[in-house]
Amino acid sequence: MNQALPEGAIDDLALRRFLRTEVEPHAEHWEHDRRVPRAVFDRAAEIGLCALMAPYEDGGRGLRLPELVDVFKTIAYGDMGFAFALIPHNNLCAAIAASDDYAHRDALLARLVTGEALGAFLLTEPQAGTHASSISTTAVETATGWRLTGEKAWITNAPHSDILRVYAQTEPGSGSRGIAAFIVEASTPGVIRLGPYDMLGSHSIGAGGFRFEDAEIGTDQMLSPPGVAYRAAMDSIGLARVLVCALALGVLERALDVATERVKSRHAFGARLADQQGLRWLLADVSTDLEAARALTMNAARAIDEDLPGSMVTTAHAKKFAARAATRGLEQCMQALGADGLRQSHPLARHLAGAKMTHYLDGSTEAQNLVIAKALFD
Ligand SMILES: Cc1cc2nc3c(=O)[nH]c(=O)nc-3n(C[C@H](O)[C@H](O)[C@H](O)COP(=O)(O)OP(=O)(O)OC[C@H]3O[C@@H](n4cnc5c(N)ncnc54)[C@H](O)[C@@H]3O)c2cc1C
Repeated sequence: MNQALPEGAIDDLALRRFLRTEVEPHAEHWEHDRRVPRAVFDRAAEIGLCALMAPYEDGGRGLRLPELVDVFKTIAYGDMGFAFALIPHNNLCAAIAASDDYAHRDALLARLVTGEALGAFLLTEPQAGTHASSISTTAVETATGWRLTGEKAWITNAPHSDILRVYAQTEPGSGSRGIAAFIVEASTPGVIRLGPYDMLGSHSIGAGGFRFEDAEIGTDQMLSPPGVAYRAAMDSIGLARVLVCALALGVLERALDVATERVKSRHAFGARLADQQGLRWLLADVSTDLEAARALTMNAARAIDEDLPGSMVTTAHAKKFAARAATRGLEQCMQALGADGLRQSHPLARHLAGAKMTHYLDGSTEAQNLVIAKALFD
């Protein structure tokens, strides 16, 4: 750690070195391999990236949301999928740290913050995405604990996660009221890993699924009881939503930097491409979108961090705008690169897939409009 930095902060130099040596040169291969080697998460843990949201007293870095935005934007500049893969893990650390009455709090947190164990968030199911309270994975009480049955889909970190935060229905038909959260070791008999999925790109996110075939867990593995768990899940998602904005900023900033350099160095019709007004204005518009997305994101980060009234709506505006700005801007920057923009060796094609993902992660763009419209009309 750089001694000049405040307690808990991430050493910016170490982070940039990690991205330059461990992420950027390998991201293209991860795309082909459909996964990030586990060792990369170990390296990430060494510089504190698995402990960002845990309190300092628990071995974490205890970063506030505006600081987290900076860190995640920087990682996404290198690789968006890998950046997102760290979010459910860090969010789990925060949730465990806040659960003072959870029996295994200290032992579990120690494994998570050191990166010995990686975490995942299991809410979405093949038939329940936006309408998350309609999940059908069940938790049936037994003499010794709970029996889990059902399937989860679109889970980040599916190939590597060791500790699963599983949302399951304890009282079918009761909607969000009956949903509880459980901590499940991925090695538990009856827990089956599915995937990784084949997608448009950005496979470093590690999307896949899990099936629970009568997986037996103990009574002491309930993290949040029915009546509390669903609200807590929505709070976790609300926070992660701001970090998804940060990822959108990272990929957009990268695309603009790549495109700007390219049009300055390439010549056509006796001048730099950067001297063609059509391209100058195209990239000037991307720059304006980036600036606006940055302002909305920081606004949302402060609103959630300080628990300001209307923070859900503020975040919805930021998420909707940042996701749209990122997909539109990536496409425009690729256009400025000409055909070369399509090459896997440029980060833009990979990041275009990542930008599209920001429209679904932690609530779709339409789900943000539901929140905004409710504030307008109801
Ligand atoms: C790469 C990736 C990683 C993910 N990681 C995780 C994870 O770690 N854990 C997890 O639990 N989930 C994860 N998700 C799931 C994500 O949260 C869902 O994709 C998201 O909630 C949307 O659900 P869905 O994809 O099932 O779309 P659906 O709910 O089927 O919706 C389909 C379309 O209809 C729209 N729609 C739905 N309802 C309405 C409405 N009322 N009004 C207007 N439009 C509507 C949606 O916006 C969407 O465009 C991940 C998703 C992706 C793509």
